Amino acid sequence: MEKIYDVIIVGSGPAGLSAGLYAARAKMSTIILEKDKTGGQISGTEEVANYPGSIREATGPTLVARMVEQAELFGAERMKAEVLSFDLEGQVKTVITSKGELKAKSIILAMGARPRLLNVPNEKALTGKGVSYCATCDAEFFTDLEVCVFGGGDTALEEAMFITKFAKKVTIIHRRDEFRAAKSIVEKAEKNDKIEFIFNSGAKKIIGEEMVRGIEIENYVTGETTEIMADPNDGLMGIFVFVGYIPETELVKSFVKLDETGYIITDEQMQTGIPGVFAAGDIRKKTLRQVVTATADGAIAAVQAEKYVDALAN
Ligand code: NAP
Repeated sequence: MEKIYDVIIVGSGPAGLSAGLYAARAKMSTIILEKDKTGGQISGTEEVANYPGSIREATGPTLVARMVEQAELFGAERMKAEVLSFDLEGQVKTVITSKGELKAKSIILAMGARPRLLNVPNEKALTGKGVSYCATCDAEFFTDLEVCVFGGGDTALEEAMFITKFAKKVTIIHRRDEFRAAKSIVEKAEKNDKIEFIFNSGAKKIIGEEMVRGIEIENYVTGETTEIMADPNDGLMGIFVFVGYIPETELVKSFVKLDETGYIITDEQMQTGIPGVFAAGDIRKKTLRQVVTATADGAIAAVQAEKYVDALAN
């Protein structure tokens, strides 16, 4: 007979792994699906300094490895598969994946969010050839080169500081004249000798054929366009893009309620409005998207899923 899991958790970032830990520990038959890399966004983060208890050697990948180990220790299964579609109505939910069909009594949606692009010419063609969305993954390639960082939030400033460990100069380009990032982070970046700032400006076009050689930017106040080119001795430079994230809600938008920016609206119990379907982590409408809130969401969603599944049996 076809297996029906108690819960399918879609996504293996901190929200999904925490949900997996809580669900498996509550003796629910649990499977966690992951599309490509385990750990979601923090797998590309060098330092996780604000998750309580994660100090010293706790990089994103080490924290993820521990979360995975802990979820598996209690019996959560994991599967690398891309979800192609959902059928979330009814008591038995179906998830169609690249590796076949899975069924469960409850679902926790923890697919997170993906980086927003600049959407300028050459961005896609030069991704991996000088354009990057992950400092931990790629900063080292720009050792002794010049780098431009786009964005004005916590991510842009923190990652820019990390990139200065490798690059000879980092220029942060922000579309307004005021940062969205926390004051403490801005102050730290301002003290970094390798960082320069360009305000009220944004990308128009990335320049280069095989590799990034420069970028054309526009000043939104004066309308003036300027080319920032790689040092002629280097010939190439880096462009890091940290301009926010887009929630991964395309496959569920016809089922669950979304806010105006595409995040899933839940109540405090992580319920989406469809019985047995919960959402956790960055995919939810919330005020603070951090590892600590993602793991908390995952725990709450799993406990509620357990209650829901128990009630079905009685
Ligand atoms: P964010 O806070 O949404 O900031 C995105 C930045 O990109 C903003 O400065 C925004 O400009 C800019 N932007 C958006 N669309 C743009 C576009 N099309 N072109 C150019 N610029 C654009 O995103 P985030 O920095 O990735 O942070 C996401 C969440 O994670 C936040 O809640 C943040 O606090 C949290 N986080 C926390 C930490 C930490 O506490 N250590 C570290 C990283 C992230 P405007 O300012 O003009 O809107």
